[in-house]
Amino acid sequence: KFITIEGVEGSGKTTQIQYIARYLTEKNIPHIITREPGGTALGRKIRELLLNPTYPVVPEAEILLYLADRAQHVGEKIIPHLDKGVWVISDRYFDSTLAYQGYGRGFDLNLLKSFIAFATKGLIPDLTILIDLPPAVGLSRVKSRGEYDRLERETVEFHQRVREGFLQLAKDQRFRVVDGRKNPEEIFLEIKGFLEGLNG
Ligand code: C5P
Ligand code: MG
Repeated sequence: KFITIEGVEGSGKTTQIQYIARYLTEKNIPHIITREPGGTALGRKIRELLLNPTYPVVPEAEILLYLADRAQHVGEKIIPHLDKGVWVISDRYFDSTLAYQGYGRGFDLNLLKSFIAFATKGLIPDLTILIDLPPAVGLSRVKSRGEYDRLERETVEFHQRVREGFLQLAKDQRFRVVDGRKNPEEIFLEIKGFLEGLNG
């Protein structure tokens, strides 16, 4: 199975992925945990260029860098593991491109979808969990981990559009939405239910 976790900054994706990994280990389900951007060696270089830019990155180039990261991730890591029956859990996937570059920056969703289809060879997750959170709450959590400077380059309105975008995308039946304001244990109980629904 291929499961992706999405949400605004500070929504608790990484924390929930740790719970998911522990649960799958207990169930003896072979799995890997991965992330975008940065799930491969090439991707980690791209992640650095995107998140600690030493050069200015125009928005069109930004899209293509995220997609280059994703193409490498899908080809080198995700598909080979799925082919071996290993579950793949990814911290972000193509819904982040639709939310950030589409809803956030205003690029055409259909254009982005055709780029995404190319980069992913059409690979769609079996389940996508959206951890929904008001951006202000997420940003204040992230502030304490010192990533705030980068995120502050974007307006609150940008992050608000990203959140609304994720909620639009989540109307698809592939999604389950959890409330990121709840405590981590409570959120994981819900996620566990979704995982059990996937089995078989
Ligand atoms: O914490 P995480 O690894 O998810 O951070 C990735 C960063 O990349 C986020 O801050 C997000 O703003 C940004 N991003 C983006 N567009 C994407 C995916 C991630 O701007 N398509
Ligand atoms: Mg994270």
